[in-house]
Amino acid sequence: MNKKSVAAFVFALILVFLFAKTGQAETKGTSIYLDGAALAIPGDGQIQIVNESVLLPIRVVAEGLGFRVNWEKQTNKVTIEQEATSLTLAIDDPTALVNGNKVSLIAAPKAVKNTTYVPMRFISEQMGLNVAWDNATKSAYLLSPILSGGSNTGGNEETDSGEVPPAEPSAPPADNDLAKITGIGFNENRLTIAADRSVEPNVYTMSGPDRLVVDIPLSKFTDTAGDGLILGSNQSGSFEVPNHPDVSKVRYSLFNAAPSAVRIVIDMNRSLSYTLNNSGDGLVTLDLLPDAPASGNGSEPNQGTDSGGKRIVVIDAGHGGKAPGSVSVTKKLEKDFNLAVSLKVEALLRQNPNLELIMTRTDDSTLSLEDRAKIANEANADLFISIHGNSIDPPANPSGYETHYSREESLALAETMHRHLLEGTGLPDRKIRKQSLYVTRETTMPAVLLEAGYLSNAKDEAVMFTEEFQQRVAQSIVAGIEEYLGLTEKAL
Ligand SMILES: [Zn+2]
Repeated sequence: MNKKSVAAFVFALILVFLFAKTGQAETKGTSIYLDGAALAIPGDGQIQIVNESVLLPIRVVAEGLGFRVNWEKQTNKVTIEQEATSLTLAIDDPTALVNGNKVSLIAAPKAVKNTTYVPMRFISEQMGLNVAWDNATKSAYLLSPILSGGSNTGGNEETDSGEVPPAEPSAPPADNDLAKITGIGFNENRLTIAADRSVEPNVYTMSGPDRLVVDIPLSKFTDTAGDGLILGSNQSGSFEVPNHPDVSKVRYSLFNAAPSAVRIVIDMNRSLSYTLNNSGDGLVTLDLLPDAPASGNGSEPNQGTDSGGKRIVVIDAGHGGKAPGSVSVTKKLEKDFNLAVSLKVEALLRQNPNLELIMTRTDDSTLSLEDRAKIANEANADLFISIHGNSIDPPANPSGYETHYSREESLALAETMHRHLLEGTGLPDRKIRKQSLYVTRETTMPAVLLEAGYLSNAKDEAVMFTEEFQQRVAQSIVAGIEEYLGLTEKAL
């Protein structure tokens, strides 16, 4: 390792909830960062501080997290929804409804210049965020939960969109078991991370703005002063990368407290490919590749040269084996629905000579989420489609079809599939949703996860296990794939 490339820093600050002093209702020059990216408050708004509570503008935060926000003017109510979560808040009312249950707020939501502000603590608790308030800079830091723990050997708990897991091991790891991050540096096109022992980083790209994110599960910052790392307030820090054409800044923070995890973000002005090199003894380097086309970038399908001109499609039947997925209202298993539809898709796609089809499973085998993404990535597939049935706990009882995606480059595929599947399922439109799901996030090609009806809804479920419905769903999946890949002629 080039020692000089490791930015030298000193470790200071204390974390989290440093709440502001009482007094002013409005603060000037406030900032909100969601996973390190600044959020703009509409209408030049500012974070509100009321009786020592920090109030944040709910819409920008909720939308930044992929929640849907609805404002009802007549009743002064705002509703925030994402899968299993439904939050209803009213201006000046210190009681909220969380999935139909009353929850008290430490302060009532307030409206300022047409923007609704809600206590940060409520946002943290109900949206599963780690939050921190830095009173010195009047900044709120919101960090979304890590969805994948890189080191749990049993594979991640497979989840549907409705079952997002804040990764919580049965017993939190002892402090001594955590890797200590002792240095982070950037030089030329290389990010260097030094730890006192082997780490298993998860790397992924995000867009809008473009950034590369490195999550290091089971790690924390070194607490040895002079070890070479400076932390600003709430266990975070950053340094500028001057004179780099594509990289402006490197930021890092204690991203999750239980289990402890460090996140490092490279801010870029365009999407870049990278290679990751893990020495296994605590030294990790990540090389940006400015001259290579960004991986999986753009919604244009690849030309599929890897398979003799054929396009490679991965069909992923969700869950399976020891992981049944959801259980339907009549006690049928989601994994069986997923497989039945997937096999029907397979039968149809095998007839198309322009496609090479890869099935992640064709029987009741158990596969981890990592396995599924790996199959697609290693095959250099052109697209990835994961098939699921949805479920929500009562009292919520929605019916309908949803398309989920995680990365911008998957949006065009999501739109195409959504159109076909709405028609194929005949179910209500539960919209296209951007969500951080493992298989759609960690794959490197356009990838979507289809939730073809609610197994928790008696009406949906009654059709979902019929041959006819499954066949229609399969046909619409195939039609969507063929349209997206521009393979209009069908060899049927
Ligand atoms: Zn599922």
